[in-house]
Amino acid sequence: MERDIKKLISQMTLEEKASLCSGRDFWHLKGIERLGIPSIMVSDGPHGLRKQQDSADQESFFKSVPATCFPSAVGLASSWNRELVERVGAAIGEECQAEGVSILLGPGANIKRSPLCGRNFEYFSEDPYLSSEMAASHIRGVQSQGVGTSLKHFAANNQEHRRMSVDAIIDERTLREIYLASFEGAVKKGKPWTVMCSYNKVNGEYASENKYLLTDILRDDWGFEGFVVSDWGAVNDRVKGLEAGLDIEMPSSFGIGDQKIVQAVKEGRLSEEVLDRAVERILKIIFKAVDNRKENATYDREAHHQLAREVARECMVLLKNEDRILPLKRQGTIAVIGEFAKRPRYQGGGSSHVNPTKLDDIYEEIKKSAGENVNVMYAKGYSLDKEELDATLLNEAKEVAMKADVAVVFAGLPEHYESEGYDRQHMRMPESHCALIEAVAEVQPNVVVVLSNGSPIEMPWLDKVKGVLEAYLGGQALGGAIADLLFGDANPSGKLAETFPKELSHNPSYLNFPGEGDRVEYREGIFVGYRYYDKKNIEPLFPFGYGLSYTTFEYSDLRISKKEILDTETVTVTVKVKNTGEMAGKEVVQLYVSDVESSVIRPDKELKGFEKVELKPGEEKTVTFELDKRAFAYYNVDIKDWHVETGEFEILIGKSSREIVLKDRIFVKSTVTIKKPVHRNTLMGDLLSDPVLAPVVKEFLAKANEGNPLFNAREDKKEISEMMMAFMKYTPLRALVSFSRGTFTEDMLEDMIKKLNSKVMES
Ligand code: BGC
Repeated sequence: MERDIKKLISQMTLEEKASLCSGRDFWHLKGIERLGIPSIMVSDGPHGLRKQQDSADQESFFKSVPATCFPSAVGLASSWNRELVERVGAAIGEECQAEGVSILLGPGANIKRSPLCGRNFEYFSEDPYLSSEMAASHIRGVQSQGVGTSLKHFAANNQEHRRMSVDAIIDERTLREIYLASFEGAVKKGKPWTVMCSYNKVNGEYASENKYLLTDILRDDWGFEGFVVSDWGAVNDRVKGLEAGLDIEMPSSFGIGDQKIVQAVKEGRLSEEVLDRAVERILKIIFKAVDNRKENATYDREAHHQLAREVARECMVLLKNEDRILPLKRQGTIAVIGEFAKRPRYQGGGSSHVNPTKLDDIYEEIKKSAGENVNVMYAKGYSLDKEELDATLLNEAKEVAMKADVAVVFAGLPEHYESEGYDRQHMRMPESHCALIEAVAEVQPNVVVVLSNGSPIEMPWLDKVKGVLEAYLGGQALGGAIADLLFGDANPSGKLAETFPKELSHNPSYLNFPGEGDRVEYREGIFVGYRYYDKKNIEPLFPFGYGLSYTTFEYSDLRISKKEILDTETVTVTVKVKNTGEMAGKEVVQLYVSDVESSVIRPDKELKGFEKVELKPGEEKTVTFELDKRAFAYYNVDIKDWHVETGEFEILIGKSSREIVLKDRIFVKSTVTIKKPVHRNTLMGDLLSDPVLAPVVKEFLAKANEGNPLFNAREDKKEISEMMMAFMKYTPLRALVSFSRGTFTEDMLEDMIKKLNSKVMES
């Protein structure tokens, strides 16, 4: 419906305008009845709807209406399947419509800097490209249903430790290439209706009042048009926030924040235009929500449960499969061990906690799937209600394992190990879980471990078991999905969206996580995740992009449409993938780009494309990638833009970040010349290595040298020797005057700098 929003704003009092800039309560925006502006509801997500029961009191804070609980973001990202994630978003969008929720508070696009971050399960990846693609797909899905999203937590909320006060100190290039890039792609490709700013400070300024983030980058640079909402309680200085681009304060500030805005306008400290702009952005979204509202919407719970099962199957990653222990045969005796089999860990704690419409019992699902010919036994193994080792439970588990042909042990991280609000202290599983695996492995050679956890763990028992299935936090239908994978009714196709280091100290953030007091410096810079492990040649436990299948794939025929391009052009890369095994399956084809030679420090390779393909046995498909400038560029802080350095790049096709199967080269020519003015402290070497500037320098040196070979020129040739040139590489121009004992005069120096700068400008 067409509305004249500007006119509407002109009819508002100052107080009414300010009132729109904060919530009515915990979950509603304000409306203005006399002007027909309704109040809309927002609710948490992102892997399912968490709509709090109607009364917003403290007591019902943790109660929410039933909704489908899909796998957490860590799992969704491991699917590397854009279309699937979009379907999840659409299903959640439908549920929002059915529950009258206009905006879903998610997804989260923060980068996994450390495996310890308590909210890693809610975030997608350590890689900004994968993360942004997943977030954009999620957003597209939800918004396809006429429901908005709130991309969060913008920005650099990479730890829970002191999350409301910590100052993340990040250099500009790292911020752009890693932490912001994850949001950038999501904003540009997903077009979220809203963005939620984070609690923390970024480089000295609260995200909620950070103009650089909220206006310069988000709006001016990336073209974001929606409103920015604060994380719940993230507002520090309300007026400064509004000026910086923070439109709505949540939850309700009970009029306090609004009053401050009114006061500031009245006292001339805040321009009313700034307020009007915020109100305009808010109203556009409110009316968008209203116009897209589907009255009497419903959804099919069973169909969504089935979707959750299909999705969970693709989110799980097969990490080990020695002697092809999996898939399990439908015969003999299977021992199911570990309390998780009956009390599953299927989602993370905190504001994303969903009240599932139903919940699979893993043990029951395994029994159902195994059929009548299989004897399925169970032992608890450990108690989720206490930390200590329980010898009786261990012994029971051993006895059951001994009687079976194969033991499937369910282990991982209990709920309180990882949650919003605090970080993990270490990467270990509870001792009782590790001890159980070891004990079972002592009496049973065929052990498969199924893990439930939201981020990487150490696996000291890895060599003692034959199979490991990383089920992550699989959502409410995890049981069915696990059974499907264990028995081979589905073929694992998940790939890790994060590196599993062998030990925590290998992680690049280790020395600087979670920082000192309220300050955390991201000193590892751009070397996050595999970018670091690659460069340092540190063998991870499992690398980024890794995951096994029950079938095999072969890659061939890598083709690059043009072997030489300008950075303004795009290039098409194709590669053939064939299923050479006996079972249908899906493969994630990963494309990495490596700069062969660079004057700036760059990672060995970076993910720039991926496609998931489904192949029947014997089937072959061609996978196509389009690469543009960004695939080759780094963020240049001098020109404040993405820049490609002219030269050769390698296109790498991998089954994981550590298993590159095909490669070829392309030459990319930059269309941008970076003009660096020459000054007294410019180094000789930098000038002499520039083909345009070197002759000018040489000409002046020769002049200074005439009849006075102070630069060690050979008498006969009047030229500067090679050795002298090498020696002078790191000499600033100004030193020519003193080193030449005045032969090279100040006037000559000035003259030369002038001439050099005119050459720079011409180029
Ligand atoms: C969380 C957000 C969440 C909000 C509302 C905050 O504590 O950081 O992710 O959307 O609460 O529950």
